[in-house]
Amino acid sequence: MNPSEWFTEEHSGAGSAFSLKIKRKLHEEQSPFQHHEIYETETFGNLMILDGCTMVSTRDNFLYHEMISHPALFTHPNPKKVWIIGGGDCGTLREVLKHPTVEEAVQIDIDERVTRLAEIYFPELCESNNNPRADLKFIDGIKWIKDAAPNSVDIIIVDSTDPVGPAEGLFNEAFYRGCFAALSENGMLVQQSESPLLHLELIKDMRNAMKSSGFAALQTLYFPQCIYPSGWWSATIAGKTSLNGFREQDSANKLFDTLYYNVDIHKGALAQPEFVKKALR
Ligand code: SAM
Repeated sequence: MNPSEWFTEEHSGAGSAFSLKIKRKLHEEQSPFQHHEIYETETFGNLMILDGCTMVSTRDNFLYHEMISHPALFTHPNPKKVWIIGGGDCGTLREVLKHPTVEEAVQIDIDERVTRLAEIYFPELCESNNNPRADLKFIDGIKWIKDAAPNSVDIIIVDSTDPVGPAEGLFNEAFYRGCFAALSENGMLVQQSESPLLHLELIKDMRNAMKSSGFAALQTLYFPQCIYPSGWWSATIAGKTSLNGFREQDSANKLFDTLYYNVDIHKGALAQPEFVKKALR
């Protein structure tokens, strides 16, 4: 097989790699923030790569986008205002706007080119961009949180790239303190927290930093994501007061379609593997 027909992401430190057979390169550019590549693959639809790392494929993005949004939105008692830090492909925005309680969802991505390219190559993810409840900003999420007024948002979702480059400052205590202050009384912060198999130390550090920033309750949930390192991914929810309010009936009777999320998936995703429990003790 000609290696040029495959896109391969090597997972540094893990001794592994993930490859997809590609039909052709659709686009490549360097923005002020990151290197963009878009491929058409044989079996996963289109594939978005930033700085050499897989971000989104047409075929499997629903897993990530549904699991980073619906568990928190069905745990908050009445989510009206949501901020998405990162998330430039707009898939998380689309899921958030499925919730009828949400009056305003602001997506804050540092790089407008991610959204403009998603509009061309992932139009289905961008179908809610013109919803009157959606607001797209293109600035640094770190600055956005630093400048935020206290008690101004119900849920903050951090849908960012890995903690290197522009996203590095989204994974530390100073940022979490800013989020804590910006959140309203029952507010929640949700962040993609990488692979439980490969990045357990990161999950541990993230949870400790969230706790030190004042969050009273934490939940890490797990879901498959075959295009990301190890194929197994996580999100961590931090609650300002508690995370005991899962609106199970609302989840069971949800008024919108999903491909992965449902009430049983929600409950199952919160089960903690033995090795994680031991490490997080
Ligand atoms: N699902 C993906 C993953 O886990 O690999 C994340 C996808 S989303 C495309 C990540 C977004 O985070 C990118 O569009 C990038 O521009 C954005 N981003 C990175 N650092 C940021 C920052 N400091 N402020 C706002 N957005 C940021």
